[in-house]
Amino acid sequence: MHADEPWDAHARCTATTRSGKRCANPPMTGGTVCRMHGGMTPVVRERARQRVLEVTLRGELEKLGWDPITDPVAALADAAGEAWAWKEVCRRQVSDIRRWEETNASGGQDLRPMIAVYERAMDRAIDMLARMVKLGLDHEALRQAKQRPAAEMAAGLMTIMERVLDRLDLTPEQAAQVQPAFAAAFKEIAK
Ligand SMILES: [Zn+2]
Repeated sequence: MHADEPWDAHARCTATTRSGKRCANPPMTGGTVCRMHGGMTPVVRERARQRVLEVTLRGELEKLGWDPITDPVAALADAAGEAWAWKEVCRRQVSDIRRWEETNASGGQDLRPMIAVYERAMDRAIDMLARMVKLGLDHEALRQAKQRPAAEMAAGLMTIMERVLDRLDLTPEQAAQVQPAFAAAFKEIAK
């Protein structure tokens, strides 16, 4: 296991003691320093929590495996859709809390963390959209990208057919029948 992974039993705090030696304490889970060397401060604890979470999720990823991206345009469009939906979820949450506060004079719920999450989600969603626009991935480009696989397959089949014809010793009359027959068969399948 790598030394900075959260559950390494042999990990040691990276701080140096007053005598100049490396601290011998184990670091806080997910952290790089022990509780005596700043491991308890909120910022450090937050980072440690994030690191633990990331290692856990990486484990999940290893278990699930993945497929290569063969259609980056579709993958980007999907990611943009997710970012936008997430922004909407956050927006609804913010307005729910606001409405709750308006009807409950006592207030009490702190909106700021949720608004921070919402703003991050919004930045993310807008960033994704800006990226797509920059790449020229508008409605027309996405429609063409969707059709591309079918067009590529048809072109590939045409090449195969031409090569098959080259190998067969057909009379010009027979050869003339092949292409219409092929086109008809392709139309049937494409239905
Ligand atoms: Zn230490």
